[in-house]
Amino acid sequence: MDFSTARHFAHQLDTQDKLASYREAFVFLDPNLIYLDGNSLGMLPKAAQEKARQIVDEQWGRDLIRGWNKGWWDAPSRVGDKIGQLIGAAAGQVLVSDTVSLNLFKLATAALTLQPNKKRIITDTFNFPSDLYILQGIQHLLSHGSLDTLREDHTKPLDHQIIRIGASDNDITPDLAALESAIDENTALVTISHVVFKSGYLYDMKRITELAHRKGALVLWDLSHSVGSVPIALDECNADFAIGCTYKYLNGGPGAPGFLYVNKSIQEKLSSPIWGWWGQKNPFDFDLDYTPAPGAQRFLVGTQPMISLLTMEAALEPTLQAGMDAIREKSILMTDYASYLTKELLAPFDFSLGSPVDSAGRGSHISIRHADGYRINRALIEEMNVIPDFREPDNIRLGFAPLYTSFQDVWEGFDRIKRVMEEKRYEKYPKQKLTVT
Ligand SMILES: *Cc1c(COP(=O)(O)O)cnc(C)c1O
Repeated sequence: MDFSTARHFAHQLDTQDKLASYREAFVFLDPNLIYLDGNSLGMLPKAAQEKARQIVDEQWGRDLIRGWNKGWWDAPSRVGDKIGQLIGAAAGQVLVSDTVSLNLFKLATAALTLQPNKKRIITDTFNFPSDLYILQGIQHLLSHGSLDTLREDHTKPLDHQIIRIGASDNDITPDLAALESAIDENTALVTISHVVFKSGYLYDMKRITELAHRKGALVLWDLSHSVGSVPIALDECNADFAIGCTYKYLNGGPGAPGFLYVNKSIQEKLSSPIWGWWGQKNPFDFDLDYTPAPGAQRFLVGTQPMISLLTMEAALEPTLQAGMDAIREKSILMTDYASYLTKELLAPFDFSLGSPVDSAGRGSHISIRHADGYRINRALIEEMNVIPDFREPDNIRLGFAPLYTSFQDVWEGFDRIKRVMEEKRYEKYPKQKLTVT
């Protein structure tokens, strides 16, 4: 498409937008706010707002303990199956539970203890730091033999090696050739983010999964930045494991629980490293010894945050209704348009695109890079009513949520960034960073 920098062009794109009406499904309290951070915390869907009130007033307030038999107890699998529809997973493989980090801990540990003779864990420097920390913690635990009881042969401690694949360019694209050659017969697990959090690079899930399987490795995808923004086909790709977030593009609310996916074909072979009563076969038998629940259920641990979980369930409605293909189509148009505006409006101010140029290779956010990125980001938030976020060392991330971000928002956001640069508004801010960027 031939883009234009004119404001009326953005208006024209909005009039042709098939998803435009979904904006009505979200709460906009400040009509002047340009919110470009849906990739970190999605906006509040009206359905979720209404549901949260109903849960507190009627379910908690009136039902009390009876709520467990009225849809609370089975919420992790019911809502998991709904998320399954968005990530190409048939029923019985997705559960809502805990946080992304904890789900990674449970699934990666299960994957490693399943194949104790393989020592390599392959990830990349593009992964979310928490994912890398969790892997380092698992490596530490296993090397000290603390989880020896999970294995049949616990005569020698496991000694894993974590290999981090780097970039092939200026921190935008991972080195795929290095990834391919790093995966060998000694590889137990390949775990990476499907869409990486900084540059927005989108991995080819099918290709990487096949590559790993050819060498006998298991694959775990972190979908935090791709669920709700790109179509995902876990079953079709034959992925082994996945984890993901519900408070980003799924709009589930701050701290809404994460989800996990375990392919049906391996569920029965796995053992969770955390044995809790929600993962016990018959929790209400109150048996004194643990027996794992059948299937993926064994990866549940304890009582889930019901107010948050059920609010998130309602928040899924607009995404389920719109469908991932329509969402992806608009998302590509938005990131293409934003890349064009970066080149036309911001390159003269020394900005560069920190994301893949080809839309097929990126998710629904782009990074724009500038040496003064941190201070520019602060000026945008504090003076211009634009909310992106900043990621080290020089990335301002702009997230586009197709259900509620309009093309006029995108244009207006860029126009305000340009104004910050023209008026040098960022220069008065210190380089010292605030706690949360
Ligand atoms: C947002 C995000 C997380 C968040 O993890 P929590 O445990 O839910 O805080 C993890 N991984 C990736 C790739 C993310 O983008």
